[in-house]
Amino acid sequence: MQAFLPRIEISLSQIQHNAQILSELYRQKGISLMGVTKATLGEPAIAAAMLQGGINFIADSRLENIQRMKDAGISAQFVLLRTALSQAELVIRTVDISLNTELETIKALSRYAKVQNKIHQIIIMVELGDLREGILPDDLAPFIHKVLGFPNIDIIGIGCNLACYGGIKPDAQNMDELSELATAMETEFQMNFTIVSGGNSANYEWYQSNQGTGRINNLRVGESILLGCETVYGRRIPRLYRHAFKLIAEVIEAKEKPSLPFGTICQDAFGNIPAFIDQGIQHRAIIALGRQDVLVSSLSAENDVEILGSSSDHIVLDSKDCDLKIGSEVRFNLDYGGILSAMTSPFIQKTMLVHF
Ligand SMILES: *Cc1c(COP(=O)(O)O)cnc(C)c1O
Repeated sequence: MQAFLPRIEISLSQIQHNAQILSELYRQKGISLMGVTKATLGEPAIAAAMLQGGINFIADSRLENIQRMKDAGISAQFVLLRTALSQAELVIRTVDISLNTELETIKALSRYAKVQNKIHQIIIMVELGDLREGILPDDLAPFIHKVLGFPNIDIIGIGCNLACYGGIKPDAQNMDELSELATAMETEFQMNFTIVSGGNSANYEWYQSNQGTGRINNLRVGESILLGCETVYGRRIPRLYRHAFKLIAEVIEAKEKPSLPFGTICQDAFGNIPAFIDQGIQHRAIIALGRQDVLVSSLSAENDVEILGSSSDHIVLDSKDCDLKIGSEVRFNLDYGGILSAMTSPFIQKTMLVHF
């Protein structure tokens, strides 16, 4: 039987290796990791590879993804990264730990936790400048004071998220502020945080610099495990695999054609008026893959071919000297946006490989 196309091939061994190297690295300074699966639609085999690499928390922003992993028999401490009021009942049913920033939502969690006879653990997110989720530092103490009045809610720690919306880099200053806040809240409320979660794949450089890590004892890491890089500069992390994901598509037309469209120029399929430079006759190939499947700008081909353009269901390539024929496979590496879109596409088959 022919392999299905398009397909995304995922090396579980490489993901497990990355998870292991990273968890050993971060453990050296007392930092545990949450493996973040949201870019993979909560693919259970990927969660399993992370767990085998020594990670003990699995974190995802979607309840559906966490449910999918649980249904597949993945056993871990699951963490919900994004909590919505309307889902409070389901949150309590599905996960033990969630990140939170709103009293109204925590109140609802408390109510359903009581009904379901559970203790729900929360990590309160603090705003340290990136301006996505978080409570402003000055509001943290009154916030905690109120949350302590809610039954069946256990505040297990605080956290912050940087380098997502505002592009703010984790550094000694904001990490120290998180540490100081943790200590101040513990003192004020006579409590003990088991988790101080300092960020995500953008925290690598901060970690590697020679400053101390203070009270930070956890990070939530997706991209570093999946793509072997940190995310402030996009630099690769030594000893990690960068291409655990490969997207493979099929050539459905291969012809010599002019590089310059002929006729009267109007709009392309997405309302843009394209401009072209005449490069004479080209070896052109069309692959059965398009914007409906993947973020095309995230693709980088393994062979020397150039992406000339794309529409919903077609990508046009300059195939140069690659000798692509009908039925040939073209292989691409992906960045984070590419993994996210390809893993979410119902048209792309997910193929798990257990070799490197
Ligand atoms: C997505 C996400 C992460 C993981 O980010 P990476 O850059 O993939 O490491 C961590 N924390 C939160 C709150 C997230 O939403």
